[in-house]
Amino acid sequence: MNLIFLGPPGSGKGTQAKRISQKLGLLHLSTGDLLREAVKNGTELGKKAKAFMEAGNLVPDELIIGLIEEKLAAGQLDGGFILDGFPRTIPQAEALKEMLKKHKKSIDRSILLSVSDEEVIKRLSGRFYCPKCNAGYNYPMQMPKQDGRCDFDGTELRRRPDDEEDVVKNRLEVYKKQTSPIINYYQKESLLRDVPGDGDGPDRVMARVLKVLEEIA
Ligand code: AMP
Repeated sequence: MNLIFLGPPGSGKGTQAKRISQKLGLLHLSTGDLLREAVKNGTELGKKAKAFMEAGNLVPDELIIGLIEEKLAAGQLDGGFILDGFPRTIPQAEALKEMLKKHKKSIDRSILLSVSDEEVIKRLSGRFYCPKCNAGYNYPMQMPKQDGRCDFDGTELRRRPDDEEDVVKNRLEVYKKQTSPIINYYQKESLLRDVPGDGDGPDRVMARVLKVLEEIA
């Protein structure tokens, strides 16, 4: 099964992509995680991406498209996948279609997690992660057992620099201008399914996504 998870920053697409990929045995590919790793390791890609990410802007298409092409060429997507955070522009969506065609693959569904702007801002201001194992937390919905410490290794939790309020506002603008046109793109291809991601907690949202996926199981 080959899936795309779409949605604004903070919609829960990373959380859902992680859970559902584990449940269905799919590869979870988050371009944001790959880029953060590249920045941390100071690679060429990381150096090129850093300033864009810190400002909440998109990294140039060709860098991201190259990253996905590498994964495809290495056969890492052969067992089925969830793309989380890619594509984010129409040129990326078009490039993905071509790349998949070249590798005799296609997308089965594009799942849109819909969440209001107010909820996004509320969630991102409560979002923390563990810099050691990358576990995610969200105050007050998913709090760690000990305030400010990771449940798995006790490391002090951090906020992503791009979760600061002014950067979040820009990320939402960028989403509306550059990413939301791909909703229409996948609607036209009859691949889009809209799942409400608001309010009810990650278990309920996961159940909704799995229900929608039953039609292609
Ligand atoms: P995310 O973790 O998905 O919110 O991504 C964090 C940041 O990485 C974004 O704000 C962008 O700067 C960059 N990024 C991730 N995926 C993409 C993409 N597909 N195209 C361009 N930039 C991206």
